Amino acid sequence: MYNPKSLKAEEFIDHQEVLDTLEYAEQNKNNVELIDSIIEKAKLRKGLDHREASVLLACEIPEKIQELYDLAQQIKKDFYGNRIVMFAPLYLSNYCVNGCVYCPYHYKNKHIARKKLTQEEIVKEVTALQDMGHKRLAIESGEDPVNNPIEYIIESIKTIYSIKHKNGAIRRVNVNIAATTVENYRKLKEAGIGTYILFQETYHKESYEKLHPTGPKHNYAYHTEAMDRAMEGGIDDVGLGVLFGLELYKYEFAALLMHAEHLEAVHGVGPHTISVPRIKRADDIDPGVFDNGIDDDTFAKICALIRVCVPYTGMIISTRESQVVREKVIKLGVSQISGASRTSVGGYTEEIRPTDSEQFDVSDQRTLDEVVRWLMEMGYIPSFCTACYREGRTGDRFMSLCKSGQIQNCCHPNALMTLKEYLMDYASEETKAIGEKLIQAELENIPKEKAKLIAADHLKKIEEGIRDFRF
Ligand code: SAM
Repeated sequence: MYNPKSLKAEEFIDHQEVLDTLEYAEQNKNNVELIDSIIEKAKLRKGLDHREASVLLACEIPEKIQELYDLAQQIKKDFYGNRIVMFAPLYLSNYCVNGCVYCPYHYKNKHIARKKLTQEEIVKEVTALQDMGHKRLAIESGEDPVNNPIEYIIESIKTIYSIKHKNGAIRRVNVNIAATTVENYRKLKEAGIGTYILFQETYHKESYEKLHPTGPKHNYAYHTEAMDRAMEGGIDDVGLGVLFGLELYKYEFAALLMHAEHLEAVHGVGPHTISVPRIKRADDIDPGVFDNGIDDDTFAKICALIRVCVPYTGMIISTRESQVVREKVIKLGVSQISGASRTSVGGYTEEIRPTDSEQFDVSDQRTLDEVVRWLMEMGYIPSFCTACYREGRTGDRFMSLCKSGQIQNCCHPNALMTLKEYLMDYASEETKAIGEKLIQAELENIPKEKAKLIAADHLKKIEEGIRDFRF
């Protein structure tokens, strides 16, 4: 029985409730009166529930979809301004004991090169990432209690935070590792991680079990209840996501929102981020085998809807998507993107990287400098900021600041200062010239006069070589 407050996966992601929601959405997809009332509610910027959201997803009336897109763009502007947070993934190990049928790391794949970074290799990888200008990483690893135990992950996080190379520093390490115990989540919290990210892959239990036929990941309840254990272990920023293409997108979308509602109902704080990966070609994986792939328009609609339904939740898009698709969805609500990513273990250092160890094909192959310049040419501020988490603005504290609109007085100056650091330390001359102009213009958009003056002063000091100012 559906119960968002329950701690049991099958009750907060109740299969029957998802089916009833889809039926309700189908019946009402042309109900203009209802659709208008849902859009009116969305304009209050307090979000929508899974039923309301599903009606909008089912609706195919062009004018209504346009209204949705316009609203998503407006909410994006009001809540996130023109800032886009930058990050990069760092693959630690591709040893894996699971049998996920869509992932080339599955244990039966004998021709992918297996690799686990040593601490010395992590230093090399992180140094290469720092030399590009990255400040925020998402570490990725397969699940293998022997090769990649929690102690290895913790040691790696400590290594990453300890590396200070020239003006570089990784200031936030987000973690994308398999579902684990409360005790291990506590260890991750103590190691100072940012967001704990775990993709659900699919919320459809029967499909989930077929797609994960063997290994610890086979356990649907254990995987789906992971965020509750993470929060019990003290992690207050968690990131959700489904791998679009595995199951019917309408099912996934309704269930994803139910998961967000569950976190809010039980822990008083919704997901910090939602990622929207789509399945990609990879070694021994042909995405054509999965017949639930979604086209670019549906993908854009989902992004717009997530923005409208959970306005306070950041949205992440990776280099799985091409420049063209990224451009479209950034406008509609994406707030965080990766740049210059390598999805293989040792991918940032040629001498470490074995050939053929990628997790999936990367569509956007540009350098970080190119991505930064591209964003600025479109009027966005690439932000390397990590201040919230380091100032303790996480979980419900972050959410309440965000909901009151106060966050703008921190985020905007922080974005400008971290962009300035990037320009001074890493950018090409062309990128630097565009960036300097943008910063001068954007300084005027800091709402509070006092914050504007302080930011201007800090920007000058960054020019003199001092780093890491933050509001
Ligand atoms: N091993 C961890 C786990 O089990 O959750 C997570 C790390 S895995 C490196 C990160 C994510 O990559 C997975 O959660 C999955 O959604 C995604 N992924 C796997 N195969 C993919 C493919 N062929 N195309 C796109 N994304 C894929």
